[in-house]
Amino acid sequence: MLQLCNFINGELQPPAAGRYLPLLNPATGQVFGQVPNSDAADVDRAVQAATAAFPAWRALPAEERGRRLVRLAELIDQNLETLAQAESQDNGKPLSLARTLDIPRAASNFAFFGTAAQHFATETHLQEGVALNYTVRHPVGVVACISPWNLPLYLFTWKIAPALAAGCCVVAKPSEVTPYTAFLLSELSREAGLLAGVLNIVHGTGPGAGQALVEHPGIRAISFTGGTATGAHIARTAAPQFKKLSLELGGKNPNLIFADCDLDAAVQTSIRSSFANQGQICLCGSRIFVERSVYEPFKAAFLAQVQALTVGDPLEASTQQGAIVSEAHLNKILSYIDLAHQEGGRLLAGGQRVQVPGRCAEGYFLQPTVFEGLAPDCRVNQEEIFGPVVTLTPFDHEEEALTWANSTDYGLSATVWTRDLARAHRVAHQLQAGVVWVNTWLHRDLRTPFGGMKNSGLGREGGLEALRFFTEAQNVCVKL
Ligand code: NDP
Repeated sequence: MLQLCNFINGELQPPAAGRYLPLLNPATGQVFGQVPNSDAADVDRAVQAATAAFPAWRALPAEERGRRLVRLAELIDQNLETLAQAESQDNGKPLSLARTLDIPRAASNFAFFGTAAQHFATETHLQEGVALNYTVRHPVGVVACISPWNLPLYLFTWKIAPALAAGCCVVAKPSEVTPYTAFLLSELSREAGLLAGVLNIVHGTGPGAGQALVEHPGIRAISFTGGTATGAHIARTAAPQFKKLSLELGGKNPNLIFADCDLDAAVQTSIRSSFANQGQICLCGSRIFVERSVYEPFKAAFLAQVQALTVGDPLEASTQQGAIVSEAHLNKILSYIDLAHQEGGRLLAGGQRVQVPGRCAEGYFLQPTVFEGLAPDCRVNQEEIFGPVVTLTPFDHEEEALTWANSTDYGLSATVWTRDLARAHRVAHQLQAGVVWVNTWLHRDLRTPFGGMKNSGLGREGGLEALRFFTEAQNVCVKL
Protein backbone atom coordinates (compact mmCIF):
# COMPACT_ATOMS: atom_id res chain seq x y z
CA MET A 1 0.00 0.00 0.00
CA LEU A 2 1.19 3.50 -0.86
CA GLN A 3 2.70 5.29 2.15
CA LEU A 4 3.33 9.02 1.81
CA CYS A 5 6.08 10.83 3.75
CA ASN A 6 6.71 14.35 4.87
CA PHE A 7 9.45 16.25 3.04
CA ILE A 8 11.68 18.01 5.54
CA ASN A 9 15.18 19.39 4.97
CA GLY A 10 15.35 17.76 1.54
CA GLU A 11 14.50 14.29 2.83
CA LEU A 12 11.40 12.12 2.81
CA GLN A 13 10.62 11.45 6.45
CA PRO A 14 7.92 9.56 8.37
CA PRO A 15 5.90 11.55 10.92
CA ALA A 16 7.66 11.76 14.32
CA ALA A 17 4.79 10.09 16.20
CA GLY A 18 4.31 7.42 13.50
CA ARG A 19 0.63 8.23 13.03
CA TYR A 20 -1.10 7.97 9.65
CA LEU A 21 -4.50 8.64 8.11
CA PRO A 22 -6.12 6.58 5.34
CA LEU A 23 -6.03 7.87 1.76
CA LEU A 24 -9.28 7.24 -0.05
CA ASN A 25 -10.16 7.23 -3.74
CA PRO A 26 -13.59 8.94 -3.84
CA ALA A 27 -14.42 7.32 -7.17
CA THR A 28 -14.17 3.80 -5.71
CA GLY A 29 -14.61 4.44 -1.98
CA GLN A 30 -11.48 2.30 -1.46
CA VAL A 31 -8.42 3.08 0.67
CA PHE A 32 -5.30 3.11 -1.49
CA GLY A 33 -2.66 4.48 0.86
CA GLN A 34 -1.71 6.31 4.03
CA VAL A 35 -0.76 9.91 4.65
CA PRO A 36 1.20 11.16 7.69
CA ASN A 37 -0.93 12.61 10.45
CA SER A 38 1.82 15.02 11.49
CA ASP A 39 1.88 17.07 14.67
CA ALA A 40 3.64 20.09 16.15
CA ALA A 41 6.96 18.20 16.38
CA ASP A 42 7.03 17.61 12.60
CA VAL A 43 6.03 21.20 11.93
CA ASP A 44 8.78 22.44 14.22
CA ARG A 45 11.41 20.34 12.42
CA ALA A 46 10.22 21.72 9.11
CA VAL A 47 10.30 25.33 10.32
CA GLN A 48 13.80 24.82 11.70
CA ALA A 49 14.99 23.36 8.39
CA ALA A 50 13.45 26.27 6.50
CA THR A 51 15.01 28.79 8.89
CA ALA A 52 18.44 27.24 8.40
CA ALA A 53 18.05 27.24 4.60
CA PHE A 54 16.82 30.83 4.38
CA PRO A 55 20.14 32.77 4.34
CA ALA A 56 21.57 30.76 1.45
CA TRP A 57 18.33 30.76 -0.56
CA ARG A 58 17.74 34.51 -0.25
CA ALA A 59 21.38 35.16 -1.14
CA LEU A 60 21.06 33.35 -4.48
CA PRO A 61 20.58 35.80 -7.35
CA ALA A 62 16.94 35.97 -8.49
CA GLU A 63 18.01 34.59 -11.85
CA GLU A 64 19.44 31.49 -10.21
CA ARG A 65 16.44 30.93 -7.97
CA GLY A 66 14.24 31.38 -11.01
CA ARG A 67 16.24 28.88 -13.06
CA ARG A 68 15.47 26.16 -10.50
CA LEU A 69 11.79 27.02 -10.47
CA VAL A 70 11.66 26.87 -14.26
CA ARG A 71 13.39 23.49 -14.06
CA LEU A 72 10.68 22.36 -11.65
CA ALA A 73 8.04 23.49 -14.17
CA GLU A 74 9.74 21.36 -16.81
CA LEU A 75 9.81 18.35 -14.51
CA ILE A 76 6.08 18.74 -13.82
CA ASP A 77 5.47 18.80 -17.58
CA GLN A 78 7.62 15.69 -18.06
CA ASN A 79 5.69 13.87 -15.32
CA LEU A 80 2.28 15.12 -16.42
CA GLU A 81 0.71 11.69 -16.82
CA THR A 82 1.83 10.37 -13.40
CA LEU A 83 0.72 13.56 -11.67
CA ALA A 84 -2.63 13.66 -13.48
CA GLN A 85 -3.35 10.02 -12.55
CA ALA A 86 -2.47 10.75 -8.90
CA GLU A 87 -4.68 13.87 -8.85
CA SER A 88 -7.64 12.03 -10.29
CA GLN A 89 -7.19 9.08 -7.92
CA ASP A 90 -6.97 11.36 -4.88
CA ASN A 91 -9.72 13.82 -5.76
CA GLY A 92 -12.15 11.93 -8.02
CA LYS A 93 -11.88 14.51 -10.82
CA PRO A 94 -11.92 13.33 -14.44
CA LEU A 95 -8.43 12.33 -15.53
CA SER A 96 -8.94 14.43 -18.66
CA LEU A 97 -9.44 17.53 -16.48
CA ALA A 98 -6.33 16.84 -14.41
CA ARG A 99 -4.35 16.40 -17.66
CA THR A 100 -5.58 19.59 -19.31
CA LEU A 101 -6.14 21.95 -16.37
CA ASP A 102 -4.67 21.05 -12.98
CA ILE A 103 -1.23 19.79 -13.87
CA PRO A 104 -0.41 22.15 -16.79
CA ARG A 105 -1.44 25.10 -14.61
CA ALA A 106 0.77 23.87 -11.78
CA ALA A 107 3.70 23.83 -14.24
CA SER A 108 2.88 27.34 -15.46
CA ASN A 109 2.85 28.63 -11.88
CA PHE A 110 6.53 27.72 -11.51
CA ALA A 111 7.44 28.83 -15.04
CA PHE A 112 5.77 32.20 -14.53
CA PHE A 113 7.17 33.03 -11.08
CA GLY A 114 10.58 31.59 -12.03
CA THR A 115 11.03 34.46 -14.43
CA ALA A 116 8.82 37.01 -12.61
CA ALA A 117 11.39 37.39 -9.81
CA GLN A 118 13.73 39.07 -12.29
CA HIS A 119 11.11 41.64 -13.26
CA PHE A 120 10.43 42.68 -9.70
CA ALA A 121 11.93 46.16 -9.80
CA THR A 122 12.96 48.48 -6.99
CA GLU A 123 10.98 51.72 -6.81
CA THR A 124 12.74 55.06 -6.36
CA HIS A 125 11.31 58.40 -5.24
CA LEU A 126 13.49 61.35 -5.97
CA GLN A 127 13.01 64.58 -4.01
CA GLU A 128 14.87 66.90 -6.37
CA GLY A 129 18.04 68.21 -4.81
CA VAL A 130 17.06 66.94 -1.36
CA ALA A 131 17.00 63.16 -1.11
CA LEU A 132 16.69 59.92 -3.00
CA ASN A 133 14.41 57.25 -1.59
CA TYR A 134 14.55 53.72 -2.82
CA THR A 135 12.43 50.79 -1.71
CA VAL A 136 14.05 47.43 -1.13
CA ARG A 137 11.79 44.38 -0.88
CA HIS A 138 13.33 41.77 1.37
CA PRO A 139 11.92 38.23 1.51
CA VAL A 140 9.88 37.97 4.74
CA GLY A 141 11.58 34.74 5.83
CA VAL A 142 9.89 31.41 6.48
CA VAL A 143 6.29 31.29 5.30
CA ALA A 144 3.37 28.86 5.53
CA CYS A 145 1.36 27.83 2.48
CA ILE A 146 -1.90 26.00 3.22
CA SER A 147 -4.14 24.78 0.41
CA PRO A 148 -7.48 22.97 -0.08
CA TRP A 149 -8.52 19.74 -1.82
CA ASN A 150 -10.39 20.95 -4.87
CA LEU A 151 -7.48 21.87 -7.20
CA PRO A 152 -4.73 20.25 -5.14
CA LEU A 153 -1.45 20.75 -7.02
CA TYR A 154 -2.64 23.80 -8.93
CA LEU A 155 -3.45 25.82 -5.77
CA PHE A 156 -0.53 24.42 -3.78
CA THR A 157 1.99 25.62 -6.39
CA TRP A 158 0.15 28.94 -6.88
CA LYS A 159 1.37 29.82 -3.38
CA ILE A 160 4.71 28.05 -3.22
CA ALA A 161 6.05 29.39 -6.52
CA PRO A 162 5.85 33.14 -5.69
CA ALA A 163 7.10 32.52 -2.13
CA LEU A 164 10.22 30.74 -3.40
CA ALA A 165 10.73 33.25 -6.21
CA ALA A 166 10.66 36.10 -3.68
CA GLY A 167 13.44 34.37 -1.72
CA CYS A 168 11.35 32.93 1.11
CA CYS A 169 11.61 29.39 2.43
CA VAL A 170 8.38 27.47 2.71
CA VAL A 171 6.62 25.04 4.99
CA ALA A 172 3.56 23.89 3.07
CA LYS A 173 0.58 21.82 4.08
CA PRO A 174 -1.72 20.37 1.42
CA SER A 175 -5.19 19.18 2.37
CA GLU A 176 -5.00 15.80 4.06
CA VAL A 177 -7.84 14.74 1.75
CA THR A 178 -5.71 15.16 -1.41
CA PRO A 179 -1.99 15.06 -0.53
CA TYR A 180 -0.71 12.71 -3.26
CA THR A 181 0.55 15.19 -5.86
CA ALA A 182 2.16 17.37 -3.16
CA PHE A 183 4.09 14.27 -2.10
CA LEU A 184 5.19 13.66 -5.71
CA LEU A 185 6.29 17.30 -5.89
CA SER A 186 8.75 16.65 -3.04
CA GLU A 187 10.92 14.43 -5.22
CA LEU A 188 10.66 16.73 -8.21
CA SER A 189 11.74 19.76 -6.19
CA ARG A 190 14.89 17.94 -5.11
CA GLU A 191 15.61 16.98 -8.71
CA ALA A 192 15.11 20.60 -9.75
CA GLY A 193 17.93 21.66 -7.44
CA LEU A 194 16.09 23.38 -4.62
CA LEU A 195 18.46 23.45 -1.65
CA ALA A 196 17.58 21.24 1.32
CA GLY A 197 15.06 22.98 3.60
CA VAL A 198 13.95 25.56 1.03
CA LEU A 199 10.65 23.74 0.45
CA ASN A 200 9.24 21.55 3.21
CA ILE A 201 5.94 19.69 2.93
CA VAL A 202 4.19 18.52 6.08
CA HIS A 203 1.07 16.38 5.76
CA GLY A 204 -1.74 16.20 8.29
CA THR A 205 -5.07 17.59 9.37
CA GLY A 206 -6.04 21.24 9.64
CA PRO A 207 -6.55 21.22 13.40
CA GLY A 208 -3.33 19.20 13.87
CA ALA A 209 -0.46 20.11 11.54
CA GLY A 210 -2.25 23.15 10.09
CA GLN A 211 -2.92 24.78 13.43
CA ALA A 212 0.65 24.07 14.64
CA LEU A 213 2.00 25.72 11.50
CA VAL A 214 -0.17 28.82 11.88
CA GLU A 215 0.83 29.16 15.54
CA HIS A 216 4.56 28.58 15.05
CA PRO A 217 6.54 31.72 15.98
CA GLY A 218 9.06 31.03 13.20
CA ILE A 219 6.42 31.60 10.50
CA ARG A 220 6.32 35.22 9.30
CA ALA A 221 3.54 35.03 6.71
CA ILE A 222 0.65 32.72 5.95
CA SER A 223 -0.85 32.22 2.54
CA PHE A 224 -4.09 30.29 2.94
CA THR A 225 -6.77 29.09 0.55
CA GLY A 226 -9.83 27.36 1.97
CA GLY A 227 -13.16 27.95 3.64
CA THR A 228 -14.25 31.29 5.12
CA ALA A 229 -14.73 29.89 8.65
CA THR A 230 -11.21 28.41 8.61
CA GLY A 231 -9.84 31.69 7.29
CA ALA A 232 -11.44 33.62 10.16
CA HIS A 233 -9.97 31.15 12.65
CA ILE A 234 -6.49 31.49 11.13
CA ALA A 235 -6.77 35.29 11.19
CA ARG A 236 -7.62 35.21 14.90
CA THR A 237 -4.66 32.93 15.61
CA ALA A 238 -2.14 34.88 13.54
CA ALA A 239 -3.12 38.43 14.49
CA PRO A 240 -1.43 38.63 17.92
CA GLN A 241 1.86 37.59 16.30
CA PHE A 242 1.46 40.18 13.50
CA LYS A 243 1.99 37.63 10.76
CA LYS A 244 1.27 38.74 7.22
CA LEU A 245 -1.90 37.09 5.95
CA SER A 246 -3.24 36.30 2.52
CA LEU A 247 -6.66 34.64 2.66
CA GLU A 248 -8.39 33.22 -0.40
CA LEU A 249 -11.77 32.03 0.86
CA GLY A 250 -15.19 30.89 -0.28
CA GLY A 251 -17.51 32.25 -2.95
CA LYS A 252 -21.13 32.29 -4.09
CA ASN A 253 -20.58 33.71 -7.49
CA PRO A 254 -23.21 35.25 -9.76
CA ASN A 255 -23.43 34.59 -13.49
CA LEU A 256 -25.40 37.39 -15.23
CA ILE A 257 -26.91 36.61 -18.63
CA PHE A 258 -28.21 39.68 -20.48
CA ALA A 259 -30.62 39.29 -23.40
CA ASP A 260 -28.22 40.84 -25.90
CA CYS A 261 -25.46 38.27 -25.33
CA ASP A 262 -24.29 35.46 -27.59
CA LEU A 263 -26.68 32.95 -26.04
CA ASP A 264 -24.97 29.84 -27.44
CA ALA A 265 -21.63 30.90 -25.98
CA ALA A 266 -23.28 31.82 -22.67
CA VAL A 267 -24.95 28.42 -22.40
CA GLN A 268 -21.82 26.53 -23.38
CA THR A 269 -19.57 28.35 -20.91
CA SER A 270 -22.21 28.36 -18.15
CA ILE A 271 -22.18 24.56 -18.28
CA ARG A 272 -18.47 24.70 -17.47
CA SER A 273 -18.75 27.49 -14.91
CA SER A 274 -21.52 25.56 -13.14
CA PHE A 275 -20.19 22.03 -13.21
CA ALA A 276 -16.43 21.92 -13.94
CA ASN A 277 -14.68 19.76 -11.34
CA GLN A 278 -18.18 18.77 -10.09
CA GLY A 279 -18.80 22.42 -9.17
CA GLN A 280 -15.96 22.26 -6.66
CA ILE A 281 -14.11 25.35 -7.86
CA CYS A 282 -14.32 28.48 -5.72
CA LEU A 283 -14.93 30.46 -8.95
CA CYS A 284 -17.91 28.42 -10.16
CA GLY A 285 -20.97 30.56 -10.89
CA SER A 286 -23.68 28.87 -8.84
CA ARG A 287 -26.30 31.65 -9.07
CA ILE A 288 -27.38 32.17 -12.67
CA PHE A 289 -29.48 35.29 -13.25
CA VAL A 290 -31.04 35.49 -16.74
CA GLU A 291 -32.83 38.48 -18.28
CA ARG A 292 -36.50 37.51 -18.49
CA SER A 293 -36.87 37.86 -22.28
CA VAL A 294 -34.28 35.07 -22.85
CA TYR A 295 -34.98 33.10 -19.70
CA GLU A 296 -36.93 30.28 -21.38
CA PRO A 297 -34.58 29.81 -24.37
CA PHE A 298 -31.55 29.90 -22.04
CA LYS A 299 -33.17 27.41 -19.67
CA ALA A 300 -34.10 24.98 -22.47
CA ALA A 301 -30.64 25.02 -24.03
CA PHE A 302 -28.88 24.85 -20.64
CA LEU A 303 -30.97 21.91 -19.40
CA ALA A 304 -30.44 20.02 -22.67
CA GLN A 305 -26.67 20.26 -22.13
CA VAL A 306 -26.92 19.39 -18.42
CA GLN A 307 -28.84 16.19 -19.28
CA ALA A 308 -26.11 15.29 -21.78
CA LEU A 309 -23.26 15.50 -19.21
CA THR A 310 -21.72 12.09 -18.54
CA VAL A 311 -21.21 11.26 -14.88
CA GLY A 312 -18.90 8.29 -14.45
CA ASP A 313 -15.53 6.69 -13.85
CA PRO A 314 -12.94 9.51 -13.83
CA LEU A 315 -10.57 7.33 -15.85
CA GLU A 316 -12.99 7.00 -18.80
CA ALA A 317 -12.26 9.43 -21.62
CA SER A 318 -15.99 10.10 -22.07
CA THR A 319 -16.53 11.16 -18.43
CA GLN A 320 -17.29 14.85 -17.88
CA GLN A 321 -18.35 14.64 -14.23
CA GLY A 322 -16.25 12.61 -11.81
CA ALA A 323 -16.75 11.84 -8.13
CA ILE A 324 -17.41 14.27 -5.28
CA VAL A 325 -14.27 14.49 -3.12
CA SER A 326 -15.58 12.61 -0.07
CA GLU A 327 -18.67 11.00 1.40
CA ALA A 328 -18.93 13.78 4.01
CA HIS A 329 -18.88 16.43 1.28
CA LEU A 330 -21.41 14.50 -0.81
CA ASN A 331 -23.74 14.42 2.21
CA LYS A 332 -23.28 18.15 2.71
CA ILE A 333 -24.29 18.81 -0.92
CA LEU A 334 -27.28 16.44 -0.61
CA SER A 335 -28.41 18.34 2.50
CA TYR A 336 -28.46 21.55 0.42
CA ILE A 337 -30.53 19.77 -2.24
CA ASP A 338 -33.03 18.85 0.50
CA LEU A 339 -32.97 22.45 1.69
CA ALA A 340 -33.66 23.70 -1.84
CA HIS A 341 -36.82 21.57 -1.89
CA GLN A 342 -37.82 22.86 1.56
CA GLU A 343 -37.26 26.45 0.44
CA GLY A 344 -39.70 25.94 -2.42
CA GLY A 345 -37.29 25.36 -5.31
CA ARG A 346 -38.45 23.50 -8.45
CA LEU A 347 -36.00 20.79 -9.44
CA LEU A 348 -35.23 21.06 -13.17
CA ALA A 349 -32.41 18.51 -13.41
CA GLY A 350 -30.46 16.04 -11.28
CA GLY A 351 -30.81 16.00 -7.51
CA GLN A 352 -29.85 12.34 -7.01
CA ARG A 353 -26.78 10.23 -6.31
CA VAL A 354 -25.49 8.28 -9.29
CA GLN A 355 -24.64 4.59 -9.05
CA VAL A 356 -21.71 3.99 -11.38
CA PRO A 357 -21.31 0.27 -12.17
CA GLY A 358 -18.07 -1.72 -11.95
CA ARG A 359 -15.03 -0.54 -10.00
CA CYS A 360 -16.82 2.73 -9.06
CA ALA A 361 -19.87 1.07 -7.48
CA GLU A 362 -18.93 2.43 -4.03
CA GLY A 363 -17.95 5.90 -5.27
CA TYR A 364 -19.49 9.28 -4.41
CA PHE A 365 -21.21 10.46 -7.56
CA LEU A 366 -23.93 13.06 -7.93
CA GLN A 367 -26.04 14.26 -10.85
CA PRO A 368 -25.48 17.86 -11.97
CA THR A 369 -28.41 19.63 -10.36
CA VAL A 370 -30.45 22.70 -11.36
CA PHE A 371 -33.20 24.46 -9.42
CA GLU A 372 -35.42 27.41 -10.23
CA GLY A 373 -37.97 29.38 -8.24
CA LEU A 374 -35.73 30.13 -5.27
CA ALA A 375 -35.64 33.63 -3.79
CA PRO A 376 -32.23 35.35 -4.08
CA ASP A 377 -32.10 35.72 -0.29
CA CYS A 378 -32.85 32.09 0.60
CA ARG A 379 -30.09 30.00 2.18
CA VAL A 380 -29.45 27.97 -0.98
CA ASN A 381 -28.75 31.24 -2.82
CA GLN A 382 -26.67 32.72 -0.01
CA GLU A 383 -24.47 29.90 1.31
CA GLU A 384 -21.59 28.22 -0.47
CA ILE A 385 -22.54 24.67 -1.49
CA PHE A 386 -19.30 23.91 -3.40
CA GLY A 387 -20.82 21.19 -5.54
CA PRO A 388 -22.69 20.65 -8.83
CA VAL A 389 -25.81 22.58 -7.79
CA VAL A 390 -26.93 25.81 -9.47
CA THR A 391 -30.05 27.97 -9.41
CA LEU A 392 -31.73 29.84 -12.29
CA THR A 393 -33.50 33.13 -11.59
CA PRO A 394 -35.05 35.55 -14.13
CA PHE A 395 -34.47 39.30 -13.73
CA ASP A 396 -36.20 42.29 -15.29
CA HIS A 397 -33.58 45.02 -15.34
CA GLU A 398 -29.88 45.68 -14.75
CA GLU A 399 -30.29 47.19 -11.26
CA GLU A 400 -32.23 44.16 -10.08
CA ALA A 401 -29.56 41.80 -11.39
CA LEU A 402 -26.83 43.85 -9.70
CA THR A 403 -28.68 44.00 -6.38
CA TRP A 404 -29.12 40.25 -6.33
CA ALA A 405 -25.59 39.58 -7.54
CA ASN A 406 -24.18 41.67 -4.68
CA SER A 407 -26.59 40.36 -2.05
CA THR A 408 -24.35 37.69 -0.46
CA ASP A 409 -21.58 37.98 2.12
CA TYR A 410 -19.13 36.76 -0.52
CA GLY A 411 -17.35 38.68 -3.25
CA LEU A 412 -14.96 36.40 -5.10
CA SER A 413 -15.86 36.36 -8.79
CA ALA A 414 -18.68 37.19 -11.20
CA THR A 415 -19.43 36.57 -14.86
CA VAL A 416 -21.30 38.93 -17.20
CA TRP A 417 -22.69 37.96 -20.60
CA THR A 418 -23.53 40.90 -22.90
CA ARG A 419 -22.61 42.37 -26.30
CA ASP A 420 -23.13 45.91 -24.99
CA LEU A 421 -19.65 47.23 -24.24
CA ALA A 422 -20.88 50.14 -22.11
CA ARG A 423 -23.02 47.83 -20.02
CA ALA A 424 -20.16 45.34 -19.61
CA HIS A 425 -17.94 47.99 -18.01
CA ARG A 426 -20.76 49.62 -16.04
CA VAL A 427 -21.93 46.34 -14.53
CA ALA A 428 -18.40 45.05 -13.92
CA HIS A 429 -17.48 48.16 -11.94
CA GLN A 430 -20.56 47.83 -9.72
CA LEU A 431 -20.12 44.15 -8.98
CA GLN A 432 -18.67 43.42 -5.56
CA ALA A 433 -16.26 40.78 -6.80
CA GLY A 434 -12.47 40.65 -6.94
CA VAL A 435 -12.55 38.99 -10.37
CA VAL A 436 -15.07 39.79 -13.12
CA TRP A 437 -15.20 37.89 -16.39
CA VAL A 438 -17.06 39.34 -19.37
CA ASN A 439 -18.16 36.78 -21.99
CA THR A 440 -15.71 34.21 -20.66
CA TRP A 441 -14.93 32.24 -17.50
CA LEU A 442 -11.79 30.98 -15.77
CA HIS A 443 -9.68 32.84 -18.28
CA ARG A 444 -6.31 33.15 -16.64
CA ASP A 445 -3.47 35.66 -16.90
CA LEU A 446 -0.96 35.10 -14.11
CA ARG A 447 -0.02 38.79 -14.01
CA THR A 448 -3.44 39.92 -12.81
CA PRO A 449 -4.44 40.32 -9.15
CA PHE A 450 -6.52 37.42 -7.91
CA GLY A 451 -8.67 37.38 -4.77
CA GLY A 452 -11.96 38.24 -3.20
CA MET A 453 -13.84 41.09 -1.56
CA LYS A 454 -16.01 40.85 1.59
CA ASN A 455 -15.97 37.38 3.19
CA SER A 456 -14.13 35.91 0.19
CA GLY A 457 -10.77 36.97 1.52
CA LEU A 458 -8.03 39.35 2.28
CA GLY A 459 -5.28 40.44 -0.07
CA ARG A 460 -4.53 39.42 -3.62
CA GLU A 461 -2.46 36.68 -5.22
CA GLY A 462 -0.95 36.63 -8.71
CA GLY A 463 1.84 38.53 -10.43
CA LEU A 464 3.52 41.34 -8.52
CA GLU A 465 0.83 41.23 -5.80
CA ALA A 466 2.06 37.79 -4.74
CA LEU A 467 5.71 38.83 -4.82
CA ARG A 468 4.90 41.89 -2.73
CA PHE A 469 3.05 39.73 -0.21
CA PHE A 470 6.07 37.52 0.36
CA THR A 471 8.37 40.51 0.85
CA GLU A 472 8.80 43.24 3.41
CA ALA A 473 9.22 46.74 1.97
CA GLN A 474 12.07 48.82 3.36
CA ASN A 475 12.61 52.42 2.35
CA VAL A 476 16.15 53.78 2.29
CA CYS A 477 16.42 57.58 2.25
CA VAL A 478 19.75 59.07 1.13
CA LYS A 479 20.32 62.79 1.59
CA LEU A 480 21.67 64.39 -1.56
P1 NDP B 1 -10.83 24.17 4.61
O1 NDP B 1 -10.90 25.57 5.08
O2 NDP B 1 -11.51 23.12 5.39
O3 NDP B 1 -9.32 23.69 4.49
C1 NDP B 1 -8.34 24.36 3.72
C2 NDP B 1 -6.96 23.96 4.23
O4 NDP B 1 -6.80 24.48 5.55
C3 NDP B 1 -6.74 22.46 4.34
O5 NDP B 1 -5.39 22.17 4.07
C4 NDP B 1 -7.09 22.20 5.79
O6 NDP B 1 -6.52 21.02 6.25
C5 NDP B 1 -6.46 23.43 6.44
N1 NDP B 1 -6.96 23.78 7.77
C6 NDP B 1 -8.17 23.49 8.32
N2 NDP B 1 -8.21 23.99 9.60
C7 NDP B 1 -7.02 24.61 9.83
C8 NDP B 1 -6.45 25.31 10.94
N3 NDP B 1 -7.10 25.47 12.10
N4 NDP B 1 -5.21 25.81 10.82
C9 NDP B 1 -4.53 25.67 9.68
N5 NDP B 1 -4.99 24.99 8.59
C10 NDP B 1 -6.23 24.48 8.67
O7 NDP B 1 -11.34 24.18 3.11
P2 NDP B 1 -11.55 22.94 2.14
O8 NDP B 1 -10.30 22.14 2.03
O9 NDP B 1 -12.81 22.26 2.52
O10 NDP B 1 -11.72 23.68 0.73
C11 NDP B 1 -12.92 24.17 0.28
C12 NDP B 1 -13.02 25.67 0.52
O11 NDP B 1 -11.92 26.34 -0.09
C13 NDP B 1 -14.25 26.28 -0.08
O12 NDP B 1 -14.84 27.17 0.83
C14 NDP B 1 -13.72 27.04 -1.28
O13 NDP B 1 -14.50 28.13 -1.68
C15 NDP B 1 -12.39 27.48 -0.79
N6 NDP B 1 -11.53 27.79 -1.93
C16 NDP B 1 -11.21 29.11 -2.17
C17 NDP B 1 -10.43 29.44 -3.28
C18 NDP B 1 -10.03 30.86 -3.55
O14 NDP B 1 -9.12 31.06 -4.33
N7 NDP B 1 -10.66 31.86 -2.95
C19 NDP B 1 -9.97 28.40 -4.21
C20 NDP B 1 -10.36 27.07 -3.85
C21 NDP B 1 -11.12 26.79 -2.75
P3 NDP B 1 -7.27 19.59 6.08
O15 NDP B 1 -8.14 19.63 4.88
O16 NDP B 1 -6.13 18.67 5.91
O17 NDP B 1 -8.02 19.40 7.34
